[in-house]
Amino acid sequence: MTDSLWAALEPLLPEVRSPSQYIGAEWNSVRKDPAGVRAKVCFAYPDAYTIGMSHLGLQIFYGMINARADALCERAFCPWPDMEQRMRARDLPLFSVDSHTPVRDFDIVAVSLQTELSYTNLLNLLELARIPLIAGERGPNDPIVVGGGPSSTYPEPVADFFDLFIIGDGEETFVSFLDLYIEMKGRGASRAEIVRAAQDRVPGAYVPSLFEFAFEGGRLVGISPDRKVTKASVASFEDAYFPTAPVVPYAETVFDRINLELMRGCPHRCRFCHAVSFKNNLRFRSVDRLLEHAEQTYLSTGLDEIALTSLSSGDYPHLRELVGRLLARFKSRAVNVSLPSLRIDARLKEIPALMKPWRKSGFTVAPEAGTESLRRVIRKPIKDEDLFETVRAAYREGWRHIKLYFMIGHPNETEADLRGILQTAKTCSELARESQGHRAQVNVTISPFVPKPHTPFQFKGQRDFAYLDEAVRMLRDGARTTRVQIKAHSPRGNYLEAVLSRGDRRVGRAVLEAHRLGCKFDEWREFFNFDAWMQAFERAGVDPDYYARRDIDEHEVLPWDMIDVGTSREYLWRELQYSDEAHRERTAHVGA
Ligand code: SF4
Repeated sequence: MTDSLWAALEPLLPEVRSPSQYIGAEWNSVRKDPAGVRAKVCFAYPDAYTIGMSHLGLQIFYGMINARADALCERAFCPWPDMEQRMRARDLPLFSVDSHTPVRDFDIVAVSLQTELSYTNLLNLLELARIPLIAGERGPNDPIVVGGGPSSTYPEPVADFFDLFIIGDGEETFVSFLDLYIEMKGRGASRAEIVRAAQDRVPGAYVPSLFEFAFEGGRLVGISPDRKVTKASVASFEDAYFPTAPVVPYAETVFDRINLELMRGCPHRCRFCHAVSFKNNLRFRSVDRLLEHAEQTYLSTGLDEIALTSLSSGDYPHLRELVGRLLARFKSRAVNVSLPSLRIDARLKEIPALMKPWRKSGFTVAPEAGTESLRRVIRKPIKDEDLFETVRAAYREGWRHIKLYFMIGHPNETEADLRGILQTAKTCSELARESQGHRAQVNVTISPFVPKPHTPFQFKGQRDFAYLDEAVRMLRDGARTTRVQIKAHSPRGNYLEAVLSRGDRRVGRAVLEAHRLGCKFDEWREFFNFDAWMQAFERAGVDPDYYARRDIDEHEVLPWDMIDVGTSREYLWRELQYSDEAHRERTAHVGA
């Protein structure tokens, strides 16, 4: 099935960038005979190979499905534009990298939506695969296109392009869909019947064609049927499938490392954070199980870095024991251990010493706001004192530079908060003098605030570009002649993210227009074309400000109301009131 496509692809490889991303046959990749299975799944990642192959979810799916005797899973990615141009010129379809089978020949195409800025990639991917973009236009022989990942909890802007979504932890739910598919296909059910049955029989399934949205005077006024899709959670995280033999790419990827998933969820509730609602239900893996995962993965891959990944790994209750046992086991094998996601509190001060034995890259923390008082407003109550003590400890233990993440443009942000970002970064730089005798390099990444569904700040609108551009300029100017480097995410990219987060089904027309206008890889600075997006909104008759900049009322019908992630509207609204109260208190205090 694949030899002729490979014969056409192979001559293109010397002409394109990073050709190894297209050849497959990587270490631990799996080839199965399609004739021997009852369901063929293609995991299509709507970004480049280098991004997709660093995604733990892809490795989980790939390993989990291929572990079954009755199914196979292969991978597909967005070809880089140089490859895409050659494929289009020769009329070659999108293919799986494993066996170079046309993606269209699979039974199920699973797409993980990690970011809204991948939506045009999704359409490009479907078009290259020759799968009709609109779900309603697909025929009985087209694959079933299934969406998942964080953005599937507010799916409406891409609802028209999916046959169904599976919302929540995919380990058990996707398997349950696969079982349903195999069972129904076996007794001759049609594609449409299988999709319809999924709505009732698969936990977390949302079939957009079975829901109707009513608009009046331009506003969403109702969703029918009046039923909720409840986000699915894996029953036992301890025992959930973990890929101990992940595929090891030949091409360089964003992260070449073993990802140990310590926990799912986060004990905190920062008011801007969507990740905590998507992964809620705090669950931990035991140290013994994690050691097993680390050992087996190391033996099967030879990778020399173990990343302790999770939303907030510093909160893992047995961190000291885990790090100690990893050290005992891996130090002599020259395997590095890193902790990418840390939340600052009194405990964090211990972490630099804990991680001392390993090679050091930058020490990363995310205060998010420049002042303690704004941090209380966003419910990330980090004390300056704790932050600076942690940074001091990091320098003492040999870290040479610090990375800080901040959000700008929160509706309650003041000029003092912006100045606080600079001041915090400069202090972090200066603190290195105490143990190292000179200022340290501090890299600050700034991202404009995005109101995310299912968070208390879903009700807040974004600030305008004049404010955000000025804030970025002010921060850059203030950092001149210091050792603080400011890297700012584009306010226009984050504006688009807000539109695609809070959008309803009408926004899908604009996504389609943007695709027709050639938008793709919107998350990549070199490709992002904001003017084309604005043209797309105009052509589609969609006002992007309506979705990004407007404050939303307490009782307004929201396009994601049918998705229940476990946090009620009442809770979110109450949290918003607490946040406003915290802001009033701090401004009253300043005025007094
Ligand atoms: S600590 Fe991080 S993951 Fe947890 S709620 Fe806050 S921002 Fe989200």
